[in-house]
Amino acid sequence: MEEMDEPKTFRSLGVCEQLAEACLSLGWANPTRIQMESLPHALEGKDIIGIAQTGSGKTGAFALPILQALLENPQPFFACVLSPTRELAIQIAEQFEALGSGIGVKCAVLVGNVDKVQQAISLAKRPHIVVGTPGRLLDHLSNTKNFSLRTLKYLVLDEADKLLNLEFEKAIDEILKNIPRERKTFLFSATMTNKVKKLQRACLRSPVKVEASSKYSTVETLKQQFRLVPAKYKDCYLVYILTQMAGSMTMIFTRTCDSTRLLALLLRNLGMRAIPISSQLSQAKRLGALNKFKAGECDILVCTGLMSRGLDIPQVDLVINYDIPENSKDYIHRVGRTARAGRTGLAVSLVSQYEVEWYLLIEKLIGKKLPEYPAEEAEVMQLVESVTDARRMAHMTMKDNPSHRKRRGRDGDEDADEQFVSLKKGNKSKPKRR
Ligand code: AMP
Repeated sequence: MEEMDEPKTFRSLGVCEQLAEACLSLGWANPTRIQMESLPHALEGKDIIGIAQTGSGKTGAFALPILQALLENPQPFFACVLSPTRELAIQIAEQFEALGSGIGVKCAVLVGNVDKVQQAISLAKRPHIVVGTPGRLLDHLSNTKNFSLRTLKYLVLDEADKLLNLEFEKAIDEILKNIPRERKTFLFSATMTNKVKKLQRACLRSPVKVEASSKYSTVETLKQQFRLVPAKYKDCYLVYILTQMAGSMTMIFTRTCDSTRLLALLLRNLGMRAIPISSQLSQAKRLGALNKFKAGECDILVCTGLMSRGLDIPQVDLVINYDIPENSKDYIHRVGRTARAGRTGLAVSLVSQYEVEWYLLIEKLIGKKLPEYPAEEAEVMQLVESVTDARRMAHMTMKDNPSHRKRRGRDGDEDADEQFVSLKKGNKSKPKRR
């Protein structure tokens, strides 16, 4: 916890001139805390377990030492970074490319729901860095001719605790069998589970554990509030907050894929620019929705916990937990989507009578009681009629266009766009966001 007397620079931590300049060109004037803690060890060639809150600059903390080692010893298939979600994998590759643009770094991204042939072509170009989700990487290791990671020097597991969940365990074990034991390994995660310790025993060599924050903290620039709401008026409170916070770039978290779609339709029926994203959508649709949000075409992204890990959209200034996560650690990941890289942000949790228990677990985990979101109940109740209408119309649309889960080419994003256009004509509900 002691403050350093001299502000550290990337150079003073051992980062070479070329990469320090790359950092500067990205606007990284000084290293973040996790970078300060981990870079000297990682540059020395140590294995690292990094516990860093989301938005702390952890991608830089593992990308810089890899790029520096690559500069010293250029070779294809130098490093492999695994991530639990496709979006995070793409984001990591983008940071590698941005930091490595001056040194001609080539990356391949191997994620599911995307054309395998294109990916095989990118592997044939013999990239330096492969970033991917475990299933698809394993698929290529098994089926793509001339692709192997036998000369790999670095392995990174980002969101390591998630990657060690049962759903990924088998794929990870298989991948570990196909890469050299003589390598450097970095594990990064905002939350740490015993399973990480298990992997630590299996694969790491005298790792250095670096921690940029206490285990389950959230960043200081994040303001967190909650509001107890009757379940039947939750939509009204949601709409009220969105109206109060007009102009904010907002992520709303719900429990199920269907409710992302329903809520996005409901909000659209009220004239708000909302877009749903969930695992029901094809990868192209997911990226499309994300890009619309990033570009500001839509300012409300309604998503499931799928989008809660690692995603970096610095402009997000409001996170609303429409549903309270049962697993309190998910809360940390969700609210970490705002107040990134030193910016401020607000997270509001809407707690119904059925969710109080889960909410109390969250307060216990973060070690503090949160203040209440100040909502004028009378004003909220004025929204009941229009919100009820909007919900009814959203339900009708969902009924007319039943779940697209198994259908190709008509994903919710597209449906929602079409539905928005047709519903706008009959729209009589009025709470205005901007
Ligand atoms: P991450 O935790 O890796 O998702 O990074 C969060 C955000 O912080 C990204 O937008 C990075 O570009 C940014 N970032 C990373 N390192 C620094 C730094 N040293 N100074 C300023 N911003 C940074």
